[in-house]
Amino acid sequence: MTFVDTHTHLDFANDPVVWIERAKEAGVNKIICVGTSVEASRKSVEIAEKYSTSKDSGQARMTEKKEMQIYATVGIHAQDGKGDVEKFGGLDKCIDELRKILDQAENDKLIVGIGECGFDIHLVASDQRPVTNDEERGFQKELFEVQIKLAAELRLPLVVHCRNAWEETFQLLTAYSRQLTANGVFHSWTGDWEAAKRAIDLGFYISFSGIVTFKNAVDIQDVARRMPLDKMLLETDSPFLTPEPIRSGRPPKLTSRLSSTIRTRLEERNRRVFRQNEPKNVKIIAQFIARLRNLPVSQVASVTSVNAGRLFSF
Ligand SMILES: [Zn+2]
Repeated sequence: MTFVDTHTHLDFANDPVVWIERAKEAGVNKIICVGTSVEASRKSVEIAEKYSTSKDSGQARMTEKKEMQIYATVGIHAQDGKGDVEKFGGLDKCIDELRKILDQAENDKLIVGIGECGFDIHLVASDQRPVTNDEERGFQKELFEVQIKLAAELRLPLVVHCRNAWEETFQLLTAYSRQLTANGVFHSWTGDWEAAKRAIDLGFYISFSGIVTFKNAVDIQDVARRMPLDKMLLETDSPFLTPEPIRSGRPPKLTSRLSSTIRTRLEERNRRVFRQNEPKNVKIIAQFIARLRNLPVSQVASVTSVNAGRLFSF
C-alpha cells in the first residue's frame, strides 16, 4: 500500500531528508513540494531534483519498494504576492521569474503544476466580516489570474488555495475553464457540499489535508464522505495543519532528573517537534477517510494515488 502526499512544503523542513525517509517508512512514494513564492518555487524544484530517487523520470524505479519520487510546482501564494512584487519590481516580473525557473529546470518533468495560488481572505471571527480590504482583494485576484493564464498556456494543472472567497474563485475558474485543459485541484479543502459540487463540475479535484480530521470539520467530513472517490486527493500541507490525534496529543514524558528550566525548555521543544506536521502523516488522513467511507485504507490509498497520477501526469 502506497500513498501520495500531493501538497507539502519540504523547503520548511530543517532537513528534507529526515521527512523523506520517515515518509518512505510510512509507505509514501510520491511527494509534491509546492511553491508559495518565487524563492520557495526555486527551492522546491531544487529539492525535487536533489532528493528524488532517480533524476530521470522513467517508470521502472517506481515499482521497487521504498522508493521516493519528489515533484515540484511553481507559484505565488496570495500571502506572498506583495513581497515578491516589491522584490522583483512588478507582477509581470514575478511571472518572468517563474518562467525562468521552469526554463532552467534540469528535468522539467519534475514540475507538475502551477501554484499554489488563489484567494486568502481573512474574516473577523465574531461576525465573519472580511478583514482583507478591497485593494488587497483586487491584488489577490490579479495575482491569481496571471497564474491561471500561465497554467493554461503551459497545460499544467493549477493548485488552488481558496480561503473564504468561493464566489470569486469559481467566477475566475469558470471564465478560464476552456483554456485550463489540465484542470487542477482545490488544495486543503475547506468548503461545504455545494462548493464541492461546483468544483467537481468544473473538472477539478478536491484534496483533503489534516483539517478533515478536526473535530469541528463537519462540513468538510460530509464532502469527504459523499464526493466521488475518483476526484479525491490527499495531502499534508506540512509543516502546517497537523492531523488529529497528533495535533492534540502529548509528547512522551521526560525523565524526572532535570532542572526545572531545562525541563520547561525541553517540554516546549518536544511539543513543537511532536506536533509539527510532515508528509508521513498523509497515511493518517487516508485512514480517517477510509473510516468515514467505510472502505479499506488500501482502497483509499490506491484510488487517490491513481487520481494524483492522472492529474499531475506521473
Ligand atoms: Zn500549502
